[in-house]
Amino acid sequence: MKILVINSGSSSIKFQIIDQDTEQVVASGLLERIGMSEGRMKYKSNGSKTVIDKPIPDHETGLDMVLSTIIDPKIGALKSLEEIGACGHRVVHGGEKFTSSVLIDDEVLRGLEEVSDMAPLHNPANIMGIKAAIKKLPGVPNVAVFDTAFHQTMPQVNYMYALPYKLYEDYGMRRYGFHGTSHQFVAQRTAEILGKPIEELNIITCHLGNGCSITAVKGGKSIDTSLGYGTFCGLVMGTRSGDVDPAILFDLMENKGWSLEQIKTMVYKESGLLGLSEISMDMRDIEEKMFAGNQRAKLTFDIFADRVKKYIGSYAATLGTLDAIVFTAGIGENGWELREQICDNMDVFGIKLDLEANQIKGVERVISAPDSEVAVLLVPTNEELMIARETVRLAT
Ligand code: ADP
Repeated sequence: MKILVINSGSSSIKFQIIDQDTEQVVASGLLERIGMSEGRMKYKSNGSKTVIDKPIPDHETGLDMVLSTIIDPKIGALKSLEEIGACGHRVVHGGEKFTSSVLIDDEVLRGLEEVSDMAPLHNPANIMGIKAAIKKLPGVPNVAVFDTAFHQTMPQVNYMYALPYKLYEDYGMRRYGFHGTSHQFVAQRTAEILGKPIEELNIITCHLGNGCSITAVKGGKSIDTSLGYGTFCGLVMGTRSGDVDPAILFDLMENKGWSLEQIKTMVYKESGLLGLSEISMDMRDIEEKMFAGNQRAKLTFDIFADRVKKYIGSYAATLGTLDAIVFTAGIGENGWELREQICDNMDVFGIKLDLEANQIKGVERVISAPDSEVAVLLVPTNEELMIARETVRLAT
């Protein structure tokens, strides 16, 4: 049986077809610019790549394109759509309502719509993908897998902000956290690699991509995470600021004439690596300039590493003891200089990197020194596989 994994954005659909038995990707693709005058579908299967340029007016048409392409006699990966046993959907926000993945029925769909305004940029698009799949693949079960669900195990002491309690009661304003599927995947993989039951391990998972977050995982459960109610706090990200003192934002609005829209654009789109460096939101560009002697690039790199270090320290304290730190996502998997800097001078926590082993990109490996008290690992994330596994668990 094959699982169709769908990650539906406001103007894009990413998809993978994963074989349930082998867990291999048999086809994958990306549809971009949905709803715009020029659309594009990129498709990969059997080692060949295809690009189809044509307008994609909406998500339903997009899914139609996906379905006809995957059974195309020349480039298709499947003989018939009947091979698709279930669809797994990434849903960004599950609020407090959804604490784990769920098989979608009418009631769940209503529930998804209720929590939709918690992630206005993402959830409505996720729901469009779900509705398109229900319509175009009748009879095929659909499962929603949430970015927030893994963090629903956080104790209240870690998810509350010290704001008036009423904000939590009336509006659900609390820390939710994101990237849960990735944190859960790499934590599980870490336990497998170390050959120990996850229930016995305290792990800090560092998801460092365009979006970044760090999570304290105790016995397989998230107990704290750096992203919160929205998606810009915590670590420095590509264009998002990470933690800032809100007094700066008040001051800009009160005394410097900034509008709310300008503030939002600044903290979500113009800050982070891009805002600090004034070079790029891409860590590769920052590194290139830094190694060429650019001081601002060096400062940006140092600030990024410093924030990760501080969160590791803070979460080590929260966890009490620490067994492993794991790095994942674009920067975490590839930026070995950054991993070196983050783990440097961490003797107080018993963290010692094997500097040579660390000089790798994108492969699963233990990168700590043999005498390090804490294992440090690089584990490439695989959110799609995690979604496929959850889909198999609930729909078959
Ligand atoms: P997304 O959140 O969009 O899925 P990714 O996990 O793909 O993001 O991560 C994107 C980030 O990974 C970018 O900042 C990019 O610079 C960084 N990255 C990719 N390759 C490297 C590399 N070789 N060295 C350092 N950073 C890298």
